Amino acid sequence: MPIAPGSTIGILGGGQLGRMLALAASALGYRTHIFCPDPDSPAFQVTANRTIAPYGDEIALKTFAQSVSVVTYEFENVPAETAALLERLVPTRPGAKALAVAQDRFTEKEFVRVAGATTVRYATVSSATDIAAAVAATGLPAILKSRRLGYDGKGQRQIERAEEVEPAWLELGAGDCILEGWAPFVAEVSVILARASDGAVATYDVPQNTHEGGILRRSVVPATVGGATAATAVDIALRIAAALDYVGVLAVEMFVLGDGTVLVNEIAPRVHNSGHWTIDACVTSQFEQHIRAVCDLPLGSTERHSDAEMINLIGHEIDRWPNLMGDPTAKLHLYGKTEAREGRKMGHVTRVRRRQT
Ligand code: AMP
Repeated sequence: MPIAPGSTIGILGGGQLGRMLALAASALGYRTHIFCPDPDSPAFQVTANRTIAPYGDEIALKTFAQSVSVVTYEFENVPAETAALLERLVPTRPGAKALAVAQDRFTEKEFVRVAGATTVRYATVSSATDIAAAVAATGLPAILKSRRLGYDGKGQRQIERAEEVEPAWLELGAGDCILEGWAPFVAEVSVILARASDGAVATYDVPQNTHEGGILRRSVVPATVGGATAATAVDIALRIAAALDYVGVLAVEMFVLGDGTVLVNEIAPRVHNSGHWTIDACVTSQFEQHIRAVCDLPLGSTERHSDAEMINLIGHEIDRWPNLMGDPTAKLHLYGKTEAREGRKMGHVTRVRRRQT
């Protein structure tokens, strides 16, 4: 049974993704209730119902669950106990399995390999004695990453020489890490797809992504990688979605090597920054699509009517808003954040032109 317009959708997390989900839900006639510990959350500006409480507050979570017809989330680091508690009370989509896989870079790589995808070489580093074997397994150069709670390049150190691993591991807090072999990629792409509870899927055209300092700078569609590579990428992402028995929008970030090999970098069980262009270039945006999937509505058309380039506005780049606002080629999206801290995503700008291919 679909969850009908007029119902309330619960969203965990109050950042820009929660905000854009709430806006899309609103356009379909839904109400939203946003749960976030930060009173200054940008998503609170666009919802009538909010709970300001820690994710571990059981009483607040129960009250929240009673007030909504379905729960979804805008970030993958929802604590496992929070997801488990909510799942017992109300449909929670995607489910705890997708969260568990995406929260740990090692579990994630093991999972995607079993699902039939290829990754860079990797090995865990949980103590200084693991380092020599890990370097032997991955080769150099490599990247040391915290297994949990890293995002936008945080919790990562590039490694050129074996003796750099131990200081890097200490700098990252001497906890559970993963050493990844360096992927000599010629392009980065991502697959954004939606999967419904009956297994129906809808995929978007594959964007090509550029990162700077671990943060997404730019996504462009169509990608310059060929159609065959894009098709391989989509096929890999569909296998992962099926293996997760996934419901909602899923993003899979990938590296494309010179010989066309596609390696999975990471998965995001949520709407994704590299899918923001879908708002302006597709019949159904990734945000609307996610709302449709979690409410058991038919998935919308992912048809792309325009070519698009999306550029993130990071930190003080937001100060350019008057120029961008006056630029007839720019579609500006601002997230309503008050403080422009370094590395913080403040908004994005999309430029579209009539589809060429
Ligand atoms: P991540 O947080 O793992 O998505 O990493 C952020 C960005 O760092 C990626 O999009 C790549 O541009 C780069 N990166 C991460 N891991 C690797 C790797 N194993 N090889 C090459 N580049 C990487």
